[in-house]
Amino acid sequence: MPNAFWCIVEDDRNGSPKKVMAEVIGEASRLAPGRAEAVWLTDKASEAGLKQLGEWGATKVLLLEHAALAPYRSEVWVAAAAELAAKEAPKAIFAPVTSRQREFVARLAARLGVGLAADSVGFALDGDALVATRPIYAGKLLSKVTWAKAPWVATLRPNVFRPADTQPGKTATIERPTVTVPGAQMKFVERREEVSTGLPELTEAETVISGGRGMKGPENYVILEELGRVIGAAVGASRAAVDAGWRPHRFQIGQTGRTISPKLYLGFGVSGAIQHLAGMRTSKVIVAVNKDPEAPIFKIADFGIVADLFEVVPELTKEFKKLLEK
Ligand SMILES: Cc1cc2nc3c(=O)[nH]c(=O)nc-3n(C[C@H](O)[C@H](O)[C@H](O)COP(=O)(O)OP(=O)(O)OC[C@H]3O[C@@H](n4cnc5c(N)ncnc54)[C@H](O)[C@@H]3O)c2cc1C
Repeated sequence: MPNAFWCIVEDDRNGSPKKVMAEVIGEASRLAPGRAEAVWLTDKASEAGLKQLGEWGATKVLLLEHAALAPYRSEVWVAAAAELAAKEAPKAIFAPVTSRQREFVARLAARLGVGLAADSVGFALDGDALVATRPIYAGKLLSKVTWAKAPWVATLRPNVFRPADTQPGKTATIERPTVTVPGAQMKFVERREEVSTGLPELTEAETVISGGRGMKGPENYVILEELGRVIGAAVGASRAAVDAGWRPHRFQIGQTGRTISPKLYLGFGVSGAIQHLAGMRTSKVIVAVNKDPEAPIFKIADFGIVADLFEVVPELTKEFKKLLEK
């Protein structure tokens, strides 16, 4: 539909949309009531996933289902989506900030010859224009940007926008448009092994624990994971910890890692360098534990404890266990 607000579906690679899509569809529906459409590139969509998109308020799902669309390769996705965009002429194209959408949407915008508002944290309609708010200079300033021409392409920071309420029984029209899906020219992965920590995913979690260089070594992250299991939190890390090889890069929070915006951020042995803050400063409540009272993280923390984390973490775990068992 011309004037549609497309919401590119980020899925869990098992046929279900991730819950961040409730935020993307919610925001698209707020800006363009009745015109939010989900665009799903996948090798296999589940019935439950399609139903979920309708219940979040997508009026239509444009389903591009093809074996060549998995695993994700930008050259395949961009060609298919650009052809569909040329036919459908959407007004806007929204996607959540995730590793693959960051790359895909940037390349799609370039292919369509339009601008991209990456990592947006707010939108407002101004007459016929859309104005996006996005952090710049590692989150020190907020800039307002608009587009010279449509489609307005943007990625949305997770946990910032109000998720759509689920409307049980509401359905979306499912369309399966025909587009050319080119063969993949690149092969990245021979074998993929997901190592699950059993904890929530970093960018989706409502509570995030972050461990920095103060953790002293990889073996000590077990105390953070134990706390994470008790309070249902994801465990991330600073770049210093990632560079030291203590945690894989997918757990890195910050400018060159993941951007998070949880309800609660708990930083242990993290100094609060500007590049770390760039990835977490929009957290709703920030708690920092550091033995240095001058650590910069205390400047943005809502609650701070000047103490040794190796004493504080086990105490917190014990107290939360008691509280939550009541
Ligand atoms: C281009 C660029 C991009 C970057 N991108 C990122 C990024 O994405 N993410 C990121 O995190 N960094 C990034 N950095 C690195 C950043 O500048 C910092 O070096 C890094 O964030 C520091 O990590 P840290 O806070 O864990 O370590 P440190 O700065 O060494 O701080 C460790 C803290 O632990 C405290 N501590 C030590 N022992 C204890 C204890 N027992 N109990 C309590 N506290 C203790 C210390 O007082 C100290 O404050 C980037 C840098 C550059 C140049």
